[in-house]
Amino acid sequence: MSLILTEDLVKDYHLGPYTVHALRGVSLSVGAGEFVAVMGPSGSGKSTFMNLLGCLDTPTAGNYLLDGVDVSGLSKDELAGIRNTKVGFVFQQFNLLPRTTALENVELPLLYGGLPARARRERALDRLAAVGLADRASHHPSQLSGGQQQRVAIARALVNDPAVVLADEPTGNLDTRTSVEILALLQRLNREGITVVLVTHEPDIAGYAKRVMTFRDGRLLRDERVAEPRDAAEALTTLPAEEEVVT
Ligand code: ADP
Repeated sequence: MSLILTEDLVKDYHLGPYTVHALRGVSLSVGAGEFVAVMGPSGSGKSTFMNLLGCLDTPTAGNYLLDGVDVSGLSKDELAGIRNTKVGFVFQQFNLLPRTTALENVELPLLYGGLPARARRERALDRLAAVGLADRASHHPSQLSGGQQQRVAIARALVNDPAVVLADEPTGNLDTRTSVEILALLQRLNREGITVVLVTHEPDIAGYAKRVMTFRDGRLLRDERVAEPRDAAEALTTLPAEEEVVT
């Protein structure tokens, strides 16, 4: 069964008398356990597509089934519920709350679920441990490196056991080695069963995915399997250690 199934997805934006055709009929399917990179030039519709996948917006026409549920016609409140339980978001800017500890940041999506405080804390700690940051639980974002902040954001994305993690340029603000570390983490999570859809404009980064979808002018131009995705853990062994990196 498809985890993500879109049928002729169309999104128009209306700006006064003008209509922008951001997506012009996108039909595709992503199965559970895939690792997909979404590529394409600026303005090709990637963000619009990700916003629809993440239930942040509704399509003008077409259907979208997420984990078997037709979400194209849902109300804003219903979408918010689906979004919180089925989708984990990771952003280029990390989007952590600044005056809040790593642990509290990871706990945040659980506040809407009615879980008792203690269970919330345990679950958040478990996800922090899964990204290698159990010992940084009480640090604030400003006390963490960029790579560590992104790992906290990934722990937050995982806290509700989502069906899919949507990552929008997750390495866009990181140096080369830290980027590959984040990719190694995403690849490990993917091997453990997490489905990942990642937007990037860097072919190097897309080379770590198992499948690359290329958008152009609001359409899916190419959809290719990567014969041999790069292994980030292996790539790390050939990159200079952190202190040797000149930034
Ligand atoms: P990408 O992420 O590939 O750069 P976008 O999905 O952001 O592409 O944009 C696709 C097209 O839709 C562009 O022409 C953009 O200007 C337009 N667009 C995106 N968001 C909006 C919006 N909120 N209102 C009007 N036009 C938009």
